[in-house]
Amino acid sequence: MYYDRIQDVKKKLGSELAILAHHYQSDSIVEHADLVGDSLQLAAAIPELEARFIVFCGVDFMAETAAVLASSEQLIFSPDPEATCVMANMAPDYLVRKILQRVSVSGKVIPLAYVNSSIGVKAICAEYGGSVCTSSNAPLMLKWALARGDRVLFLPDKNLGQNTARLSGINPGEIQILDIRNKGKNIRIEALANKKLLLWPGVCAVHFRLNKDKIMDLRRKNPGALIVVHPESDPEVVAMADEAGSTSRIISFTRDAPPKSTIFIGTEDNLVMRLKKQYRNKNIFPLGAGYCRNMAKITPKNLASCLENLVPGNAVRVDSNLVPHTRKAVETMLKVSSGD
Ligand code: SF4
Repeated sequence: MYYDRIQDVKKKLGSELAILAHHYQSDSIVEHADLVGDSLQLAAAIPELEARFIVFCGVDFMAETAAVLASSEQLIFSPDPEATCVMANMAPDYLVRKILQRVSVSGKVIPLAYVNSSIGVKAICAEYGGSVCTSSNAPLMLKWALARGDRVLFLPDKNLGQNTARLSGINPGEIQILDIRNKGKNIRIEALANKKLLLWPGVCAVHFRLNKDKIMDLRRKNPGALIVVHPESDPEVVAMADEAGSTSRIISFTRDAPPKSTIFIGTEDNLVMRLKKQYRNKNIFPLGAGYCRNMAKITPKNLASCLENLVPGNAVRVDSNLVPHTRKAVETMLKVSSGD
């Protein structure tokens, strides 16, 4: 029933409508999508889209970022505006500003936010001369940010921060995970003098579930199996995997693995199960991250209802004061990651 309602609107609106879906959406959503991708691919696609109505099947920071990048003729819709990101919510903009002011006493601190952050946080990053990054381009953007100040504040994901630091040759002794309690008053400024990288203590509620004991157990029971994980996982998990990378890298790793290989994939289970169906000549298993509760809030029922009510009053609205800085932060990332 919902399938037909969704397809009816798609037929009626034709090229005026684009449905974008994140890889972590269920098959019942992905089957309707015009474009499926990770955060970077979907953000980069917005300025190229000609559709007037863009329905974003993902979590709120993605739809808000899309609204910032959309032209004035385009409207962005979310089937469930309450689909939010636990990790992004760990870094509210008022607190990011407070902490940034506090750590800036130690020298020039460049903020670099993972795209899994609110547009308020992205705007603060541009305001302070920083930018944003995705899990694909985090090493490149960290290098860019380090060249612009004494140290970088990476947020909100401490795991992605630590894993990116390792790839960038930053020693553990040059990293400080910040104590953000008490509005940053617990942070000892003198302890930051020899630090290059300050990390916000956030984590992803899904990748947080992966742990090294599980991997050790799997290695013992499945010698020869390949393990690939997302870099939002704990650094100990990443160190034990055969490969760690963004969603796109996980997909290419799985595609390129030899036929009949056994692969355990440590990321959101909707993507893992889709890869399992796609590569039937390989033995693919989820590593145990499970499903994202918020991504799962997008359902065929609320997608159908959203599509049948594409009126301006239902579009995602963003604070116009945040738009110029947010756009600058994202455009800087797109420019740096395209090599311009
Ligand atoms: S999978 Fe993790 S980072 Fe992605 S939306 Fe869910 S909680 Fe946020």
